[in-house]
Amino acid sequence: MADKKSEKKIDLANLSFSDSVSYYFEKAAPHTDSARGLLDQIKACNSIYKMNFPVKYGNQVKVIEAYRVQHSHHRMPTKGGIRYSVHVDQDEVMALAALMTYKCALVDVPFGGAKGGINISPRQTPPEILENVTRRYTAELVKKNFIGPGIDVPAPDYGTGEREMAWILDTYNTLRPGEVDGYACVTGKPVSQGGIRGRTEATGRGVVYALNEICSHADDMKALGLSTGLEGKRVIIQGLGNVGYHTARIIQEYGAIIIAICEHDGAVVDPNGVDPKALLKYRTEKKSVLGYPKGKVIKNSAAAMELECDILIPAALEKQITAENAPRIKAKIVAEAANGPVTPAAEAILLKKGVMIVPDIYINAGGVTVSYFEWLKNLSHVKFGRMQKRFEESTQRNFIKLVEDYTGKTVPLSRVNKLIHGADEIDLVNSGLEETMVSAYRDIRDFKKRNKKVEDLRTAAFAVSINKIRDSYYAMGIFP
Ligand code: NAD
Repeated sequence: MADKKSEKKIDLANLSFSDSVSYYFEKAAPHTDSARGLLDQIKACNSIYKMNFPVKYGNQVKVIEAYRVQHSHHRMPTKGGIRYSVHVDQDEVMALAALMTYKCALVDVPFGGAKGGINISPRQTPPEILENVTRRYTAELVKKNFIGPGIDVPAPDYGTGEREMAWILDTYNTLRPGEVDGYACVTGKPVSQGGIRGRTEATGRGVVYALNEICSHADDMKALGLSTGLEGKRVIIQGLGNVGYHTARIIQEYGAIIIAICEHDGAVVDPNGVDPKALLKYRTEKKSVLGYPKGKVIKNSAAAMELECDILIPAALEKQITAENAPRIKAKIVAEAANGPVTPAAEAILLKKGVMIVPDIYINAGGVTVSYFEWLKNLSHVKFGRMQKRFEESTQRNFIKLVEDYTGKTVPLSRVNKLIHGADEIDLVNSGLEETMVSAYRDIRDFKKRNKKVEDLRTAAFAVSINKIRDSYYAMGIFP
């Protein structure tokens, strides 16, 4: 693929998900000065564990197919979510694990990439069976040494959340009693089970921090025919799950207008703004967005993604924008909150139209970033902010007192209370998350600006990431 001849041979429309990730990797590789052998090592999937185990469904027994893939051991532990979906197969989990490696390197989270998947429908399976499956899956991982605070640390992904992470933790601690760092075997746990404040919404919040930074660059916005800032931007979101809902909720706080939310069974369109909280409440009660009383509800959810807008945020699943619908997409910015929502064939079409594609390995990295903070919290056995909060407050109070003494004026109490506020866990988490998203974007953007042949943000992001992984191999002395 390095030369033009072989590039032509690739049938972009028929690449599997993991081949798509390899395609992006190879597109970026020539812009890094890395030897072929090292590139092959970075790209290779290190361990794949496929399992089949029986689970009781009433009077029947079903064989469950599940995976855990550790893409890269260049940094340990490995890290990545667990997905519950009927589309889970080995190729999908391998692709997602590889994306995790590049994502972690890009945002300086010191883990190798991994991913897990269970081929099961989270919507159509009763909770007690989901619990049995989750616990058995964890036991399989323990048996093969595929989970542990220094080995491999799962997290939530499509179809899983805090509840599943709590089951994993409980099973792990039961099978490995007395491990002092046992709570760090999984992240995305409930706060009462060693989780961290801000993890649930971290991916969505990270998407918004990233978009806020992206939209602050006046020259880039001018090139797209947009004004700077998120205020007033018309946004379409696909998927009202963890990532989509929190992205919608938080981007609204920045003044953006959500003109459509697309779910698997229909979309709600309203040029005056869809309220994600009200829609989620309705969907939770009725189990569908159909019949929602505000705005216009349309059954053809995919068609709503093609409406005129400034930012389109696919936050559901991979392969949602393909060569088939890409020509009809009208967004100026496509922000890949989901993993792999734009296929390589669709990307070629969108880039030709001048659309800015913000790649998944960057824009949805907020989840793993805050998972990293949770892991650190579990290993340090202390809540962020606990040691310094009161100290910071009394230092600030003394400073205000000093100013008052010298000026003879009194600072109003309402301002004093704001000024002296010492950082809580959530303040530190959000501050660390924002810093991560902003500085990673500047790395990508600077790389693209310095390397004139790099035409898109994904290639720049992959190149930055490959360079960081390459450097850690060099530091190990494995490659000359
Ligand atoms: P989720 O299960 O919480 O939500 C997914 C939502 O998408 C559900 O509401 C589902 O009904 C909807 N959906 C499914 N098919 C759809 C379709 N065809 N059209 C419209 N909506 C559809 O999952 P999530 O955790 O929000 O993950 C979504 C994506 O984000 C996945 O690609 C995942 O890998 C990625 N991601 C998640 C995290 C995380 O922290 N959860 C982190 C990084 C990336």
